[in-house]
Amino acid sequence: MSKGRFPCPECRADIPVSAEMLVRQEALNCPACGTSFTLDSSSRTERALDMLAKFRTATQGLGKG
Ligand SMILES: [Zn+2]
Repeated sequence: MSKGRFPCPECRADIPVSAEMLVRQEALNCPACGTSFTLDSSSRTERALDMLAKFRTATQGLGKG
């Protein structure tokens, strides 16, 4: 399972995220400040999209064979 970390938009704390959460665009909850937010294509979080692209590549590789 691919996992990564995403900086909280409020406090910049590292939030652990899984590829599934990004692909399914589930809401993330910051363990530091409690902020809840989602990562989607309309978001200004460009790093999220970059991470999502990498995760998709990884998951596609796992699906083969
Ligand atoms: Zn936070």
